[in-house]
Amino acid sequence: MLAFKVPSLKGLRALVVAVSDNHPPKCGGDLVVVSQFRWIIRVSEHEDDAMRREIVVIVCAAAGCAHTARVDESKVVDLTYAFDDQTVYWPTANRFDLTPVARGRTEAGYWYASNDFCASEHGGTHLDAPIHFAEGGQSTADVPLHRLMGPAAVVDIREQCSANPNYLLTPADILAHEDRHGRLEPGTIVLIHTGYGQYYPDADRYLGSSERGTAEHLSFPGIGESAARLLVERRVDLVGLDTASLDHGPSKDFIAHRVLSKANIPGVENVAHLARLPARGATVIALPMKIKGGTGAPCRVIAILP
Ligand SMILES: [Zn+2]
Repeated sequence: MLAFKVPSLKGLRALVVAVSDNHPPKCGGDLVVVSQFRWIIRVSEHEDDAMRREIVVIVCAAAGCAHTARVDESKVVDLTYAFDDQTVYWPTANRFDLTPVARGRTEAGYWYASNDFCASEHGGTHLDAPIHFAEGGQSTADVPLHRLMGPAAVVDIREQCSANPNYLLTPADILAHEDRHGRLEPGTIVLIHTGYGQYYPDADRYLGSSERGTAEHLSFPGIGESAARLLVERRVDLVGLDTASLDHGPSKDFIAHRVLSKANIPGVENVAHLARLPARGATVIALPMKIKGGTGAPCRVIAILP
């Protein structure tokens, strides 16, 4: 914790600006708003020096460090699997193919490296745009940014899934989560934690089968139809999970995809490291490659811990 002497209210404001210099706070009247950290600090002209000093100590402690504008990486969780030749793809989809184009010293003496890559939109940690299963739905480039970032709720169904590998999320699971952690507000990013991330990228265990070219023998948990309808009713912004598909492995009608897509709710599949998130309080940002007309895209998903 850092303590500073602040001779005046003006000094306090200058310091608040300093700890958030990438996102300068708005100062007006007796209100100092630090938008980056979502704090609102009311400083009255009548508060004495001791009180001012205390406020500054709180600001500095919460910022982690007053000497740098760098993001505190211990608060950031990467929910993304790297793309390589192990990346899990749907059995019928083209896998990630990286072709080196250049790698070495040029004739002019400087280093130059470059690759080509080619892959299905649907593999690894990726977005499903609504058009994937809804005619006329939004494509990857059309998904509004507000749907791709927001407060996360992590619904834990690990126990149910360890008892039944083809488990389907039910409305009761969602209601039980709401009982414990509060209602899912409109705009929430809902992440379903099945526990299957522990098997990634072992296709035999993660998908239930490593057979390529057919999706006949898949086995993993997913979202049931009525649970999908409840998520639509709650007007959530985005739904993700730690399996290869919103629908469970044996699905033939992909009803969870269809229900969510019809409501223009995109999905994120193969989300990594969900065990590192709290049930509530994290902020998730899921930014897909902006493919015009895309039905999905590789997606970098991160969470910022509270
Ligand atoms: Zn997909």
